[in-house]
Amino acid sequence: MANPQDLSHALYLLGGSLNVIPSSAIQVFDATTSQWSLGPPISTAREFSSTAVLTGQIYSSGRCPRWEMVPSPKKPARKMAMFFLALSLTTLLGTASMQGTAAVTYQARNNAGGTAGGTRFDNEIGLDYSTQVLSTASSFIWTTFQQDDEASRKNVQVISLIIENMDGVAYTSADQIHVSASYIAGYSGDVKTEITGVLYHEVVHVWQWNGQGAAPGGLIEGIADYVRLKAGFAPSHWVQPGQGDRWDQGYDVTARFLDYLNGLKDGFVALLNAKMKDGYSDQYFVDLLGKTVDQLWSDYKAQYGG
Ligand SMILES: [Zn+2]
Repeated sequence: MANPQDLSHALYLLGGSLNVIPSSAIQVFDATTSQWSLGPPISTAREFSSTAVLTGQIYSSGRCPRWEMVPSPKKPARKMAMFFLALSLTTLLGTASMQGTAAVTYQARNNAGGTAGGTRFDNEIGLDYSTQVLSTASSFIWTTFQQDDEASRKNVQVISLIIENMDGVAYTSADQIHVSASYIAGYSGDVKTEITGVLYHEVVHVWQWNGQGAAPGGLIEGIADYVRLKAGFAPSHWVQPGQGDRWDQGYDVTARFLDYLNGLKDGFVALLNAKMKDGYSDQYFVDLLGKTVDQLWSDYKAQYGG
């Protein structure tokens, strides 16, 4: 993970405390762009940590003597002087401006050229169209999440799509979306529309908050499919409204439920996502809708005849 170049040009804020609550957040200030972003969190919340840099890797120790390697932040930077501080978050937040990003760059490449799926991608979808979908999907997501200004969004500079030979359909990691060439090859029907829907789902993963890793996976996937649904790319094989066994079953089941909840309170999904920036609790449903999520699921099932 770690790479010496990652440490240059940047100031790292490890843990600290916010309103006296120790934090596991790593915040990274990139001196080349004057922007803050969140790095992968430390395994434990810690304030008053000690730190050291050895062979280009940050190590941190909290009050207990256990040292831990700090996850490498995602933003690479060029070699230069390194500034490294562990301060109280409250101190820093008082003076730092947390500005959003400049324009986002969208890019796509096909690493499966010469295969059946890679060729079908070129013939029926294409890199130019895919890049355009990354952009229009991002705009649609910001509107759905009611993130009108950049400061309210995640700090993302580049979203990449890679068509490659792999199992499954698609996944997203570190703002890179990977789509399976063999899925494209084997899809029967309008593959352009299908992949457009897949891309909407995956681009949501780039932009959505995940409750600092604490949100249920089914809710994360449900929000991604909710956006796909609202964009008009729900495939015909999805469950119908009211179907499913649990609210956090994920994907289409949770997407249909979220659509019902958004009908109860316009903007609910946007508000839920916004709350998930800092953490996650089922209590968010009570906060926003006045009922527990289990009660809301029961209401939803009753509405559609159980
Ligand atoms: Zn997903």
